[in-house]
Amino acid sequence: MSEQYVHVHIIVRGIVQGVGFRPFVYREAKTHGLKGFVINTADGVVIEAEGLDSEAFINDLRKNLPKHARIDSMEIVESESCGYTDFEIRESTLGVGSVAIPLDTALCRACEAEMDDSANCRYRYPFINCTDCGPRYTIIQIPPYDRVRTSMKHFAMCDACHTEYTDPSSRRYHAEPISCPDCGPKLTFLDNVGLEIEGDPIALAVEMLKAGKIIALKGLGGFHLMCDATSDTAVAELRRRKHRKAKPLAVMFRSLEQLQEYAVVNEEERAHITGAIKPIVIVRAKSGTNLSVHVAPSIDRLGVFLPYTPLHRLLFATIDFPLIATSANISDEPIIVKADEISHRLGNVVDGIVSHNRSIVNALDDSVIQIAQGHVVMLRMGRGFAPHTLLLTNAIDKNILALGAHQKSAIALGVKKNMVLSGHIGDLGSIESDGYFEKTVQTFKRFYECEPTLFISDLHPHYSSTRYAKEQKKEHYGVQHHYAHILACMGEYTLDEKVLGFAFDGTGYGDDGSLWGGEVMIADNHGYERIGFLKPFALLGGDKAIKEPRRIALSLLFECYALEEVLGLKSPATESFLEYEIRQLHHMWTKQLNSPRSSSMGRLFDAVASLGGFIQTLDYEGQGGMIMESFVDDSITEPFDFTVTDREVVLSPMVEQIVALSTQSDAKRLIASRFIATVEAMMEYFVNLHPEYPVVIGGGVFQNHALMSRLYRRFGERRFYAQQQTPVNDGGIALGQLYYALNNLPYPKDTGSFRGL
Ligand SMILES: [Zn+2]
Ligand SMILES: [Zn+2]
Repeated sequence: MSEQYVHVHIIVRGIVQGVGFRPFVYREAKTHGLKGFVINTADGVVIEAEGLDSEAFINDLRKNLPKHARIDSMEIVESESCGYTDFEIRESTLGVGSVAIPLDTALCRACEAEMDDSANCRYRYPFINCTDCGPRYTIIQIPPYDRVRTSMKHFAMCDACHTEYTDPSSRRYHAEPISCPDCGPKLTFLDNVGLEIEGDPIALAVEMLKAGKIIALKGLGGFHLMCDATSDTAVAELRRRKHRKAKPLAVMFRSLEQLQEYAVVNEEERAHITGAIKPIVIVRAKSGTNLSVHVAPSIDRLGVFLPYTPLHRLLFATIDFPLIATSANISDEPIIVKADEISHRLGNVVDGIVSHNRSIVNALDDSVIQIAQGHVVMLRMGRGFAPHTLLLTNAIDKNILALGAHQKSAIALGVKKNMVLSGHIGDLGSIESDGYFEKTVQTFKRFYECEPTLFISDLHPHYSSTRYAKEQKKEHYGVQHHYAHILACMGEYTLDEKVLGFAFDGTGYGDDGSLWGGEVMIADNHGYERIGFLKPFALLGGDKAIKEPRRIALSLLFECYALEEVLGLKSPATESFLEYEIRQLHHMWTKQLNSPRSSSMGRLFDAVASLGGFIQTLDYEGQGGMIMESFVDDSITEPFDFTVTDREVVLSPMVEQIVALSTQSDAKRLIASRFIATVEAMMEYFVNLHPEYPVVIGGGVFQNHALMSRLYRRFGERRFYAQQQTPVNDGGIALGQLYYALNNLPYPKDTGSFRGL
């Protein structure tokens, strides 16, 4: 035996399951003439290899990695020879550990070509996939990822598929969801009460779409509602039936070429649109196209994506117009995954249902991202990105479950050496959402085989997630909402130092019982000091002010002017009221009746949208900022005036300047641009006070594309951290809560108190 003949035992962790990793290891081992085996285990992928060439083998594993795989760590131990006679792929051992769950992937090019080839056995097959593409997380009942533990277990492989599955040279070698028209799932077409209709389901769907009807179609993580995106009647009807007035709808295009007729996409956007995941990407809409005006009213941005399952692709084989493809749900509830639930709950919305018998085990919405100056801004983390696993250097002593906030709910689990953030659940507060929230908790416990002993929630006493944490009767702490936003960003980058944090958000519960949302903090992993905030203003009528920004605008005007002066102003905000209404609201303001005070930056955006005449009442959260965005002119960089007194950012000078501008002909462009410049200037003021700290941002306001692009340009030269892999909005809160807890073991404490409002 030669001296270089070695036996190595390797544990590989990362995204190494469901991405063709074991066949890849097999081929590399064969190439290098090694004997041994590869196996999925609780602890990661384990490789045993012996032979002369193991060093080159290990180098090639890193170098030639399959495109969707990711190696987070590789432990290599040399030991005695075991005398293996061949190299083989062994059946997975049960149990789960610190391995990342494999993620769903969009249809690959090779499978696309096969389904287009009339000579191929999977010609026009709606469930084609291979080790490079197809469903993963959404069909897994329990890891490790093997067919018997997915919803494909109900389909026995035919001989032809089995041959491919067991042939190491095949692209479908151990492609767990492998199937063909002979042995795989079947499509069905149902009417809106769930009765099966005879005929080719695709042809029936196409016929309905061409006739301007609305269908539900089963995708990877749930159903889509689809209709002709160029038909005003179809889209208006969808909005009417769904009671969704103006919130933008995503559009699916048959090809990149078609997409580019409707939207302007740059190189980075194109890479994501056509990449392995194919999320919804928010891009700039072209004007003057035949897209219905009801798709994204009053805004110049559009959520676009390409067909990512073979089923979507089949539709577009005979449809040449773009399709609305929006999650099938009721308002902001979780996405629906079962056909009977579609007919039961959305039967009055849809005209027909395209379904199939491969069940969706784990619901996941489409991911939504946008690109600012080449950087990803994650708006909704779902298909292809969730669950998101971050590997830590040290093991965590406890199993920690962080329960997130209330809107855009998501949970995060700290287990072994990992932080795992779930996908988007939806807005809590309904039976369906709260039920799905609890189901996700159960799924995480099962997937990661753990029983959490420490629970972290928001401070808000009335959130379902806070209540859930209390009900567990275990150790439980609350983390202040905006501090959690800063921590989420620190968690994504595993920062462990003092930072200057900007948390700009809607209204969240502060540690003093008031509503925060425009906060500047010096923070580290153990606590924070609030060094700046917007001077709190009154939300006249409480929740009503959140829907009617003109009420917030009015309260800002009352801060600057006497009542009679306000009545005499020529401002779009005051002009939207009758005189007696202004008098009533002034009374409310002076007596502080139902007028909680807030320092929220999100609410300030809304107020400026009202003062600038962009919008007076909202149909969805963030609408004011989105409408203003389309008026931002990057050549206008002059901020409005503001002062900072005793930590408070005082905006009355800005309010007066906006009022003066609002009657000018070019008012909207000037106000939108100068307001964004003001937010930047405000941040710059604090950055100049504390230039020694890296800048960290978090909160829903940073979903604003115009603002984010400018911030990357302004602060890009210094240490500037913004989340890219996890949601910058409340969908990332759980990660921040978890990061706080694991940095303060064994004795975390509340950061603030659970007080009533
Ligand atoms: Zn494929
Ligand atoms: Zn088959």
